[in-house]
Amino acid sequence: MSDDLSPEFKQTGPAKRRIGRGAIVEISRNYGTLPTLAVLLVAFMGVSSVVGFMLSREDQMKLWDYRTATREVRVFQVALIDAETGIRGYVLTQKAEYLQPYVSGLSRIETLSPRLLPKLEAYSTVLPGMHEEASPVARRLGDLRKAWEQAQDKVADGEPAEAQLGLQAMHSKALMDEMRAVISGYLAKRDVGIEAAERRISLEQDALLLINPAGALIAILALIYAFRISTQEARGREEATSVSVRARQHIEELFGMTDTLQSASDGEDANEVLRATALRLLPGFSGALYVFNNSRDRLDLSTNWGARAPDEYPDHIAPASCWALKRGKFQVNSDGEGALRCGHSKPHHVGLEIPMMARGQIYGLLEISHAGDDAEQQLRDVQQLATALADAMSLALSSIALRAQLRNQALRDPLTGLYNRRFLEEMLERLGRDAERRQSPLSAIMIDLDHFKRLNDQHGHAAGDAVLRDVGSTIMSMLRATDVACRYGGEEIAILMPDCPLDMAVGRAEQLRVRIAEVAQARERVTVTASFGVAATPDTSLRAVDLIPTADAALYTAKQQGRDRVVAAPLRTAATPLGLTVGRLDLVRTPPTLPDGKSQSA
Ligand code: GH3
Ligand code: MG
Ligand code: MG
Repeated sequence: MSDDLSPEFKQTGPAKRRIGRGAIVEISRNYGTLPTLAVLLVAFMGVSSVVGFMLSREDQMKLWDYRTATREVRVFQVALIDAETGIRGYVLTQKAEYLQPYVSGLSRIETLSPRLLPKLEAYSTVLPGMHEEASPVARRLGDLRKAWEQAQDKVADGEPAEAQLGLQAMHSKALMDEMRAVISGYLAKRDVGIEAAERRISLEQDALLLINPAGALIAILALIYAFRISTQEARGREEATSVSVRARQHIEELFGMTDTLQSASDGEDANEVLRATALRLLPGFSGALYVFNNSRDRLDLSTNWGARAPDEYPDHIAPASCWALKRGKFQVNSDGEGALRCGHSKPHHVGLEIPMMARGQIYGLLEISHAGDDAEQQLRDVQQLATALADAMSLALSSIALRAQLRNQALRDPLTGLYNRRFLEEMLERLGRDAERRQSPLSAIMIDLDHFKRLNDQHGHAAGDAVLRDVGSTIMSMLRATDVACRYGGEEIAILMPDCPLDMAVGRAEQLRVRIAEVAQARERVTVTASFGVAATPDTSLRAVDLIPTADAALYTAKQQGRDRVVAAPLRTAATPLGLTVGRLDLVRTPPTLPDGKSQSA
């Protein structure tokens, strides 16, 4: 059987439908990169939204810082103005009520200074005239406060004019202007920062707004995709399972076929098993089996099955016209243009031809055909299964041939090809019974070659063998299919002729005598004659078992009368004792069977 059944049993459908174990792996391989990509994308989306969120949060903190600082600087600015206008009003009017805004402004300046001064100092370095000083803002604020405190003291001492002059002398207005310039510059810079932060935040939020739905969309697509893959894989597994179930059924069928074929006693039996198995294994396909004839120069149609009519098959195929036989491998005769087709194939007939080989010999040809539009693809799909079928059948045919050969060897004499004496004895009993039942005559001819010892001595043993072979084939060619000829002894031959009366047997013996002499002369260039003794039931013998001794006695007479002649045994009379006394046959009681289909010359 074919070693490589598995691919076929994996799948019998067209290539695109093939889903087996390999196909599942392929699906996983094909789709494996896509889910990874989807996971990576989703991860990227997640990471970027976290990063975006953190960036935006940082910007918002910054914005909050800016706003807080701006608000405090504005409060500081107002406190500075309150304190300044308060002290000026007090100096001008000496009314204590002006001290109230001055005091509250001063208090707020006091509170905010530790937080705000470093910021204002940091900014002031970029202003002209201040960058060379260590702490220009603190210094100016200190100078201002000193001037205000001195002015307050002077007014309290009742010297408002002195207080006014003191303020001027200490450049309180210029100091205020510089402080205002620092604060305004700082606020303007902060406004720019706030604006930039707001723009960034807005951008980041826009990006987040985009990233989140895109991530969700990709996640949904990935989920749908994963679902589709798992459905496809499940379907693939399901199909692979059904393919393997089918393959197991195929294997069981083939094993069953091989098993049954072992009980097939001949080609006809084997054909029946093949037909039944092929119809089950390859439903919808037609098929035919061709086997070699005996001379192996032609293949004969042995059987066929399926929808295709028997007359659509050629009866014979010449081996030279078949590509499958010439190449020793399967051949698809397709209908396509330019396709290589076997010479024996009928036009437009699409068929798969498989040579049937066993034990190194080709036994025949299995042809499988399909009538559908996609016949070629269908045939290619079942090619391995059909090959397994052909292998099983070839083995069976070779076993049948071997068995026939062995049986033949057991029944036939190897030198002459005639049956052996044991077979003659079996047949004598069977034919005797049959003749008795049908009240039909049965004749026996005993032949002994004359002076054969002398021929051996003169021409050698090999020449003697050749003569024996020729005599054997001459006899076989001149007998009916129902006659049985056997090598009875060394150069003695016995023939049983059912349904043949004595005179007809004598006539046939005479023809054989003439022909044997001619053949020996023509082929071996030796002169060979033979003596014949003929007996028949019921003319010379009452029972079949008496035929051989009676014919032998007649042969003895022929020898005595000078050889090279035919002598019939004397006709039986009432006085003739039952059965001549010359040597009785030791008969085998088991009914014999003919080895090869009842033909003497097979
Ligand atoms: P007759 O006319 O009286 O029968 O003389 P014959 O020599 O034929 O008889 P005989 O019985 O004396 O000798 C038979 C010879 O046949 C002896 C043997 O050498 C020869 N013979 C028997 N079997 C074979 C065989 O298979 N091959 C060959 N070459 N010779 C055989
Ligand atoms: Mg003899
Ligand atoms: Mg002889």
